[in-house]
Amino acid sequence: MPEQSSPLDVAEGDPFGPHNLPYGVFSTPDRPEPRVGVRIGDHVLDAGAAALALGSPYARLLAQPDLTALLAAGRNAWRDVRRALTAWVTVPAHRADMEPLLHPLDAVTLHLPYQVADYVDFYASEHHATNVGQIFRPDAETPLTPNWKHLPIGYHGRAGTVVVSGTDVVRPAGQRKGPADPAPVFGPSTRLDIEAEVGFVVGTPSAQGTAVPLADFREHVFGLSLLNDWSARDIQAWEYVPLGPFLGKSFATSVSAWVTPLEALDAARTAPPARDFPLLPYLDDADEDEPGGYDLRISVAVNGQVVAEPPFSTMYWTAAQQLAQMTVNGASLRTGDLYGSGTVSGAEPSQRGCLLELTWNGRDPLELPDGKRTFLEDGDTVTITAWAPGPDGTRVGLGEVTGRIVPAA
Ligand code: CA
Repeated sequence: MPEQSSPLDVAEGDPFGPHNLPYGVFSTPDRPEPRVGVRIGDHVLDAGAAALALGSPYARLLAQPDLTALLAAGRNAWRDVRRALTAWVTVPAHRADMEPLLHPLDAVTLHLPYQVADYVDFYASEHHATNVGQIFRPDAETPLTPNWKHLPIGYHGRAGTVVVSGTDVVRPAGQRKGPADPAPVFGPSTRLDIEAEVGFVVGTPSAQGTAVPLADFREHVFGLSLLNDWSARDIQAWEYVPLGPFLGKSFATSVSAWVTPLEALDAARTAPPARDFPLLPYLDDADEDEPGGYDLRISVAVNGQVVAEPPFSTMYWTAAQQLAQMTVNGASLRTGDLYGSGTVSGAEPSQRGCLLELTWNGRDPLELPDGKRTFLEDGDTVTITAWAPGPDGTRVGLGEVTGRIVPAA
């Protein structure tokens, strides 16, 4: 008799095979309490229920309403829990216990997987910063500001408006003033944009008054997810001088429902671009044991049409350098802190991670099946996906981040 096919028999080449195992939080119609899940193929394993069924000591970390307890448990626990989960989904002896705890992805609701503590966003792509400099400061001597290659530039964003993939985004309203306008006006943004980014999730906290060195990056950062830093360019352009982004970005930031642990991305580590200036010792990663970059292949689609394929490997500043910069003044880390990489843009026009660059501030509209686009229209859906090289020629899929624009309130 042929064996029954099992959801645990994930097809070879599936980017969500047992080499990946990203974490999320889900609920089901029959049990609406959010709980920790692990994605395997097209299914979600109820990780807490699995731990309880097997009498695992990790039930105290997994039988939880979100990932906070696991994030706070630290790197050794992250490794041990991942090892256990890998066994639960691959060892045949566990199969009968695990199969009833698997839910098809399309039958669950996914939730924001952890409480976002602080949210910081960086500006780490040289190509993006150069393009934006040329667009916003055409008369400047050089498109990059003098500090750009000496420190990772960032700003503090709004943690309370980080939303999970699939959440509608209400078009923001605000104040704007074009160069030719006699006075500012108020109304819904007419230049609503995306920024395709990668978000890094802090697990282990740090003490206020201490800096986190480059070498301790993996002691503190649990994993990453895709991030869309929705941006109202008209509001941003009028308000950002001299203190930086504010209401043009704080209305919503979307993150994927799945957090990919850094351990799943070891095969994707890659050297960052060569540095043009010597770096101060706290940022100098030339002698680090592991390369600080990640080879993530990102794809951005508007209403189903791919409009850009930004390569994360081109980012000038690494996540470890950003963490070192964020804490070098003694600022502490908290469990659940999230920091964005900044818009990911490569050297090629087809690799630009926002509409501001893709359309050169509206000058060169994109051709979509439903018409031309400069900036986003109500009803538009933006979906960012990515994959990374995994072990033995596999691919590691990152969970998508998607959102639809709905009219201003
Ligand atoms: Ca950004």
